[in-house]
Amino acid sequence: MTHVYRAHIFHITGSPSQADLDAHLVSLPDGALVVSEDGEILWTGPFAELPTMFCDAPVTRADYLLPGFVDAHVHYPQSYATAAHGGGQLLEWLDHCIFPTEAQFQDAGFADRAARYFTRRRIAAGTTAAMVFGSAFPVAQDALYRETLKAGLRIVSGRGVQTVGPPAAAALLTSEDDAIALVADEIDRWHAVDTGDPRTARVQVGIVPRFSLSVTQRTLAALGELYEEAQLHGVYFHSHLNENNRKGDGEIAAVLGSYGVEAYLDTYDGRFLPGSRSGGRSLLGRRSSLAHAVHCQPRELARLAETGTSIAHCPTSQLFLGSGTMPWRATVETGVNVALGSDIGAGDEWLISRVAGDAYKVHISELGDAGRALSPAELLFAATLAGARALDMEHAFGNLDVGKDADFLLIETARWEPLEGMLSMGIRAEDEQQATLEELFTLMVGLRQPAIAGVYVQGRRAVAPEL
Ligand SMILES: [Zn+2]
Repeated sequence: MTHVYRAHIFHITGSPSQADLDAHLVSLPDGALVVSEDGEILWTGPFAELPTMFCDAPVTRADYLLPGFVDAHVHYPQSYATAAHGGGQLLEWLDHCIFPTEAQFQDAGFADRAARYFTRRRIAAGTTAAMVFGSAFPVAQDALYRETLKAGLRIVSGRGVQTVGPPAAAALLTSEDDAIALVADEIDRWHAVDTGDPRTARVQVGIVPRFSLSVTQRTLAALGELYEEAQLHGVYFHSHLNENNRKGDGEIAAVLGSYGVEAYLDTYDGRFLPGSRSGGRSLLGRRSSLAHAVHCQPRELARLAETGTSIAHCPTSQLFLGSGTMPWRATVETGVNVALGSDIGAGDEWLISRVAGDAYKVHISELGDAGRALSPAELLFAATLAGARALDMEHAFGNLDVGKDADFLLIETARWEPLEGMLSMGIRAEDEQQATLEELFTLMVGLRQPAIAGVYVQGRRAVAPEL
């Protein structure tokens, strides 16, 4: 039956550009969200103005109500690898910490438990939708999709494709032919399996090479051919871009050296032959997103914006691996959509609002004119609607507009004493509008997992599996 949720509601309404977020921030201090039997938002507004037709509906109260968080980049097979000491930056950390932990997922029993653990972590962190970098092993991907369906969360995932790599990655490698066959099989079996329609499905599949160093020109060409057909059915593309630029032997130098290209992005754009000559089809587009983009050339950013490809910005992970940070101003000024990713396990924080807090800290610390204090609306947007946009699902979720699916979080501040303290006793401006912004900022940066009291997708409460 129809249900009313009454709380202080914050969301970013409409479909604004990055430059126009403040005007689209909605704050309803005593707000109501009306959700239909089948999980659609029927009405959002002040509780005092609740239409009479909803007055008999049961009411659930909470302190705050936010759209569900979207994690635009999280590694399922790294679920147990957060806070792992690798003794170095990206490439050493992969060798020492990541390839060995990911190899464990070939065991069906291990993978089943990991899929339940991963799903529990998502619900605890209020991550209603996620772009999930998958395991190399189909048995582990099957467990992930099964648990996600059972819990009622949204997911886009795809097996991590790796056809070349160092000895530590041996268990994760397949032949080039097997790589393509396994991706095609995953798409066949899982893409839009719940509704059959990529505009409405909660479970969807992507083509996900780990990064350019884990594949070859031949694999990229074959993935491009597969994608040409698959993208007509809403299949996604996801990978990493320009994360680590340690001089001489970092990731970017290795990509440019091994492919002979002028820019890293060219390898995903069909231009993976020496001199960035065209060798196949582009993998970029509205259902494509790339994690990090810390060290992009201007023409790479322009190309991302032009193709509608999103960036999954992962400041927590970039701090952990010493990767530097994506330059905020120069990036968003190109018009490219920037969502947030936890990048578990290089990121050691599942809660996307915590990642937003790290974004605030790193961007206010950028040097000179590049430094910026992100606004509360920018933080909320990056954690919610920008993620829905990165998944090309903005029509379905990301905010609390009427007609969308009811994906939202209930927050009870008493469940986390410091949050209650900051929100109830903190100083606020006399100007009401300014005070509202201050309250949202404290909520976003001060939120911790215990205060998330309910996680809803399409109006249904997500239920965490037992371990
Ligand atoms: Zn990653």
